[in-house]
Amino acid sequence: MITATNISKRFGDLEVLKNIDFNVETGKVVVIIGPSGSGKTTLLRCLNLLEQPEEGSLTIDRQTIDFHEKIPKKSIRGFRRLSGMVFQTYNLFPHFTAAENVMEGPVTVQKVPKAKAREKATEILAKVGLKDKVDTHPHQLSGGQQQRVGIARAMAIDPKVMLFDEPTSALDPELIGEVLRVMKQLAEEGRTMVVVTHEMNFAKEVADEVIFMDEGLVVERGSPTDVFENPQEERTKRFLNLLK
Ligand code: ATP
Repeated sequence: MITATNISKRFGDLEVLKNIDFNVETGKVVVIIGPSGSGKTTLLRCLNLLEQPEEGSLTIDRQTIDFHEKIPKKSIRGFRRLSGMVFQTYNLFPHFTAAENVMEGPVTVQKVPKAKAREKATEILAKVGLKDKVDTHPHQLSGGQQQRVGIARAMAIDPKVMLFDEPTSALDPELIGEVLRVMKQLAEEGRTMVVVTHEMNFAKEVADEVIFMDEGLVVERGSPTDVFENPQEERTKRFLNLLK
């Protein structure tokens, strides 16, 4: 589903991603872990072209972008539709209701008629447990509910892959579970997901593959059992020990 080859990204003098190869198979959940500043968010944003690498190429669902070439805006827009991004801070429109937030992508990007988009938004909101919050504005929702709207919004464009950037790290501890439950449900439905998170229990329980990043490199990858119980690399061991 996703193949990223030789991805490099710098911000000024800082080399944030160093020739990263990365792939995700259809229906699999890949969880990216690693210390702060290791490049996890940047890698995720490169998959959605919110950041553009200087090097490498990216294929999602048989569409390929070569970062050596100048990429037309139209291709960027088309490519972005392949993935649905869930942000740490929800990024909802405050003046829109939950349904309007979810409808926005289908109506403006995919030109779906409003009534149809609303019907679908209502269905998706019910799926994430927000049936009774369809017409509620974000400020009247808890953080966990807002993030579930964020997930519903990402689902609304029928993406091939869902990208989660530390989706629970802005939440109070008692609200984290409800968001992780929705994510687990999506994983069980067979969605292709890439999740950056510090929630190690989620990674252990839900990931098909765990990737440990440090200093812009993929240091180690494997099944949750491989990475958590039998890490091979010193840097992985050190990171996991710090969490104990
Ligand atoms: P965290 O777990 O703290 O979110 P991370 O592993 O996701 O960290 P990134 O957010 O990808 O790390 O950041 C990697 C490095 O790139 C950091 O040193 C960060 O300061 C830098 N960086 C990220 N975005 C930008 C930007 N837009 N401009 C300049 N530097 C940036």
